[in-house]
Amino acid sequence: MYDRYNRNIHYLRISVTDRCNLRCKYCMTEKGMKLLKHEDILSYEEIASFTKIAAGNGIDKVRITGGEPLTRKNIVYLIQLLAKIDGIKDLSLTTNGILLTEFAEPMKDAGLQRVNVSLDTVDPDKYKEITRGGDFHRVMQGIDSAEMAGLLPIKINCVVNKSSDEPDALGVKAFCNSRKFNVRFIHQMNLETGEYAPVEGGTGGNCKLCNKLRLSSDGNLRPCLFDDLSFNVRKLGAEKAIQMAMEAKPECGTKSVQNRFNVIGG
Ligand code: SAM
Ligand code: SF4
Repeated sequence: MYDRYNRNIHYLRISVTDRCNLRCKYCMTEKGMKLLKHEDILSYEEIASFTKIAAGNGIDKVRITGGEPLTRKNIVYLIQLLAKIDGIKDLSLTTNGILLTEFAEPMKDAGLQRVNVSLDTVDPDKYKEITRGGDFHRVMQGIDSAEMAGLLPIKINCVVNKSSDEPDALGVKAFCNSRKFNVRFIHQMNLETGEYAPVEGGTGGNCKLCNKLRLSSDGNLRPCLFDDLSFNVRKLGAEKAIQMAMEAKPECGTKSVQNRFNVIGG
């Protein structure tokens, strides 16, 4: 699908839940966030049916995200449904890695191809601080399990404050080099002002290269992470929501005041 600015939009990022087993400081408040009502969250059948229509329109790359996608009940079943859809060539998942030891193999068997794991530091105490209680060693075990299951190539998402020269980022870079993982440095977005900067090592934040649509867990199709435009797939139906999102996709986003990473998925 080509948008008004001649960009080929072929990548769909799907957030399957706004819930999470961590509380990263830059993503959630300490007490957690006001959560979506269960009835507003799309069922797996609704997600699969939307994705099928999106694939019919040219989407060939799908990434599952959240919240923490591995906390949603029966997530393996969703992967099975999505893996069967004709035209989806690349099926991946972004996770904090805490539950990967349990899920890597069943997810691979279900048809998941690869994972991105979020890791902002290799210091266990710092990890606990940033994530408000997360166990770094479980993430390491999770990454090992993903590698063993063949969820490759493994990519690491590392949020940085200002630059990838910060000590935590350098530690993550060294870890990735030693394990031959790709690393992408994401500049921390300020959720109040909506400020953002390009992702280093990826195409995120570079509007000219944008190829994405995002489906939030409550069924809002968003043409741009940095804009509050959204089209509800339950209200409009998949075809209409896709058409409207494509027509509205801005050349470059400016500011998103409603942006909540745990709902939209980053
Ligand atoms: N829970 C999973 C995880 O952490 O990988 C998937 C969802 S999380 C919202 C997706 C990505 O968004 C993560 O890599 C996370 O680091 C990033 N993220 C969250 N809040 C952010 C912020 N304020 N600025 C930039 N990236 C952020
Ligand atoms: Fe959870 Fe991911 Fe947000 Fe951290 S970044 S609180 S792991 S959704």
